[in-house]
Amino acid sequence: MAGFRDNIRKVVPYTPGEQPKRVDNLIKLNTNENPYPPSPKVEEMMKQVTGWRLYPDPAASKLVEALASYHGLNKDQVFVGVGSDDVLAMAFMTFFNSDKPILFPDITYSFYDVWADLFRIPYVQKPLDENFRIVADDYKCENGGIIFPNPNAPTGVYQSLDFIEEILQANPDAIVIIDEAYIDFGGQSALPLLEKYENLLVVQTYSKSRSLAGIRIGYAMGSAELIKALNDVKYSFNSYTMNQPSIAIGAAVLEDEDYFKEVTGKIVSTREWFKEEMKKLGFSFEDSKSNFLFVTHETVKAKDIFEAAKANQIYVRYFAKPRIDNYLRITIGTDEEMKTFLNFVKEFIKM
Ligand code: PMP
Repeated sequence: MAGFRDNIRKVVPYTPGEQPKRVDNLIKLNTNENPYPPSPKVEEMMKQVTGWRLYPDPAASKLVEALASYHGLNKDQVFVGVGSDDVLAMAFMTFFNSDKPILFPDITYSFYDVWADLFRIPYVQKPLDENFRIVADDYKCENGGIIFPNPNAPTGVYQSLDFIEEILQANPDAIVIIDEAYIDFGGQSALPLLEKYENLLVVQTYSKSRSLAGIRIGYAMGSAELIKALNDVKYSFNSYTMNQPSIAIGAAVLEDEDYFKEVTGKIVSTREWFKEEMKKLGFSFEDSKSNFLFVTHETVKAKDIFEAAKANQIYVRYFAKPRIDNYLRITIGTDEEMKTFLNFVKEFIKM
């Protein structure tokens, strides 16, 4: 065998949820997208974006400044990227350079171990307890950094700011990244803790609560020192991560707070109603503060429901992984979509 193959990096990639080709009547509850359209500002801005001939502003200043002002931070405290996946990958490269292992839960966003492997970062996965909660004491040992989502994915479980602060207090020598992809559906952001902890990085995204998964905008907030370090790595990798429409649209939608509140509010009320309906059907789950529910049924196997739902054009997410292979993660769609799902499940579990 030719020796060049020894020089090829072998990785096991992350598997994103399926993006089926659009067909009529498809109900897509498998990748935590928002069922509602983005703010009307997007269309308005799209018509106004010009200057395609030139490179975009490498600092994406308009977007950075809009985010800083929205969150009450200085502009040197915000870093933007191509979805939070890009931001998180940069953060792994920038902040996890210790010989000690980084720590994250055993059941969590399944990109973390992929990045750790890609960047050759040692890691230890700490088991969630039987109620899918992160155990603070597990994060009080020597480590090279900590990351977890809050609310966690795919469980939807939210942990309080006191809990986050307990982890930060125990880890002054490590960078702690809180991935807040789902924070806008009822949790409290860790942002206020930035004032006290210079080793905290908070990451958010436009993909869920702002209905813009397709445009790819994510961002990190932290001390000016951490943000500079992220930018130094970014500029060593690709100066022009943010395209013109992302910069313009990302800034514009922040002005539409009423729309944002309306959409997130609708999803939260659908979720609360859906929880009750699912209980009546014999499903159980830990409480979710995200735009999805992670459920298991008392008698019917998750995989069977997953497959039957798919055959009926309803896509939910199933993970064939230890501890969670009898669970389904169901994104909260519109009331109508959730009713269709419930009707399907009612019929299916009777069989
Ligand atoms: N973090 C978590 C916990 C997620 O579930 C996702 C969505 N797959 C992301 C980050 C990345 O989202 P995006 O790149 O669309 O911002």
